[in-house]
Amino acid sequence: MKNVTIAIDGPVGAGKSTIARECAKKLGFIYVDTGALYRALGVYFGENHVKNPDLSKITKIDLRFVDGLQHVFINDTDYTDKIRTPEASMLASKISANGSVREFLLDFQRDFAKANSVVMDGRDIGTVVLPNADVKIFLTADPHERAKRRFDELVSKGVLVGTDAEFEKVLSDLNERDHADSTRQHAPLKQADDAIVVDTTDNSFEQSVTKMLETITRVSPRKAGSARL
Ligand code: C5P
Repeated sequence: MKNVTIAIDGPVGAGKSTIARECAKKLGFIYVDTGALYRALGVYFGENHVKNPDLSKITKIDLRFVDGLQHVFINDTDYTDKIRTPEASMLASKISANGSVREFLLDFQRDFAKANSVVMDGRDIGTVVLPNADVKIFLTADPHERAKRRFDELVSKGVLVGTDAEFEKVLSDLNERDHADSTRQHAPLKQADDAIVVDTTDNSFEQSVTKMLETITRVSPRKAGSARL
């Protein structure tokens, strides 16, 4: 049977990873967080080389699933623990503007989606990586709300302590990253013409998951037929 592909794109902190992961679980599909690939590459090359990375240094990049969680390996080293900091976010955004880097990851992402039924999230999944995805969703929310969610997540993980100044920095980083991602030359963040917008500004996590699953089922009832909704 043909694999099913669900493409989810959207700006920073729209809840793509948490909501998409939960939807994938309910659908019995694999959740692929493509941002983690850019983050791992950004951390691998570091601030000094992120603008002009030497991709020949990378012999292997792969995703492995440990207890259902995605881990990114570069040259057989696991980068997963290093990629969730605010610095890694900015490195990812910088390296993702590089056309060769995007080209490098394109086949990897497509091959993965060919071999598995996936909920894949990122910035260019519906527009570039999987233009024929069965369902395309553009997940968004008000920027202030997105910054608040990201801030709360970083505080709960102990990355931030929770000051007002830290919140302002999270908000300005978020706006800076969205601006860079939407205005870059190669595969900028944008809504695909045939994507459905799901706005979660006033929704709890559970409501957002329900909204997304309802959208998937409406667009593609047969494809989502196996879902345990
Ligand atoms: O989704 P996440 O915030 O983890 O992505 C980190 C960065 O990676 C984004 O800001 C963006 O610059 C880049 N990215 C991308 N294309 C994707 C996924 C992520 O350019 N498909």
